[in-house]
Amino acid sequence: MNSPPNIILINCDDLGYGDLGCFGSDRHDTPRIDQLAAEGSRLTSFYAASPVCSPSRGAMLTGSYPPRIGFDDFDGLHVLFPGLPVGLHPDEHTLASVLKQAGYATQIVGKWHCGDQPPFLPTRHGFDHWLGLPYSNDMGRQAGGLSDDEQAAIRAAGYTLPPLPYPPLPLLADDAVIEAQPDQTMLTARYVDEALEFVRAHQDHPFFLYFAHMHVHLPLYVEQRFHQSSNNGPYGAAVHAIDWATGVLLDELSTLGLDANTVVMFTSDNGALCRPGEGSNAPLRGTKGSTHEGGMRVPMLIRWPEQIPAGVVNDELSSMLDLLPTVADWAGIELDPHRTIDGRSLNAVLRQQQSSPHQTFAYYNGSALEAVRNQQFKLRLVSGSGAAKVPALALYDLAADPGESTDVIADHPDVVAGLLAAADQYRQQLGDTLTGTVGTARRPIGRVAEPVTLTSYQPDHPYVIAEYDLPDRG
Ligand code: MG
Repeated sequence: MNSPPNIILINCDDLGYGDLGCFGSDRHDTPRIDQLAAEGSRLTSFYAASPVCSPSRGAMLTGSYPPRIGFDDFDGLHVLFPGLPVGLHPDEHTLASVLKQAGYATQIVGKWHCGDQPPFLPTRHGFDHWLGLPYSNDMGRQAGGLSDDEQAAIRAAGYTLPPLPYPPLPLLADDAVIEAQPDQTMLTARYVDEALEFVRAHQDHPFFLYFAHMHVHLPLYVEQRFHQSSNNGPYGAAVHAIDWATGVLLDELSTLGLDANTVVMFTSDNGALCRPGEGSNAPLRGTKGSTHEGGMRVPMLIRWPEQIPAGVVNDELSSMLDLLPTVADWAGIELDPHRTIDGRSLNAVLRQQQSSPHQTFAYYNGSALEAVRNQQFKLRLVSGSGAAKVPALALYDLAADPGESTDVIADHPDVVAGLLAAADQYRQQLGDTLTGTVGTARRPIGRVAEPVTLTSYQPDHPYVIAEYDLPDRG
């Protein structure tokens, strides 16, 4: 192999399995993302480690299931909110810190959502620089507030209500707030500018760019030009903005002659919310927040010309947990053998030399183990939703029935026994609130004694956007 490859990881927010042309969407034209599929591998059984944001992102960065790093529960909340005392522990090793130690230049543009207190920010986790939002774009000053129904839904799901109202939405450069209540419509273009500058500045040097899109998370503020090309309202416009951003990056790599030694990966942090007429997880069942396939199986495209075969559909079981060891493998980095992680290198899988390194995958929803799958079958361990969730078994043949429509538990007692044994192993290590099991191999979440919010509302300050006018949250 030549010098270590540059790595670009594009992570969308709440983009569904069925939202891209190359994954079967007939609502969205995504030619530049589809180009990644044509020139690289399309992974069809690739999972986020959680159906919601913060646990998914923390797990992806560390290669560890959320409960292993204490990212299954945020003081009773399901994700991080402004000013919470907890975040990604400073001792954790991340994609960025590992690559930085090996000499990579590292940059994040976009959403972090792994803690907003100083010890938890990207610059403390291996990123040289950051331009972006510390959490979701619906956690600023916004019209509507949480309705009574939304508050009731949060309580019914067993979660504590977040601190309300939120302070002004901060935009950060490294550790400093550079704007409050930024114009969200222009954020994606600003992220692209920052990303291009970074790539150009480091074209002669291995680099890692983590591009964490704001889209397609609600509220959907999208540039006018993308509305004009959309057949699917603001949601389609946001997907088109992501496709445009992907195209700009790919063109720049080509212009700089960096195609051959740059790996480009494209994925999403969890499934689509699927408000009527918007996102799609087709052909999968379930939405963001659910451990049905639609909540956690996400699109993944990986392009590395001349290294990873082009135009290949790869259905081997894999997940975001695998990115850290895979990237370390490509860069020739040995990970700390004393730190347990759950991911495995996909290098041989992507080169079609080997089947999945995983026998099973665990679907954690917060601290509850709700399902386990192997290459063919998925055993669900719960039924119902919210507070009405109860332990119950159902088996789905994902190869024949990815939409989880037909329970075949009576036909495969051996498979059920095997998956129950695997579930028990996950519980022993990582814990499970459904069975009251305390995990023995968990590392603590980071915590500060006296948290402060990054911004506070000043009634006399002339904010450019005093309050986001779209009431949508999610
Ligand atoms: Mg998300």
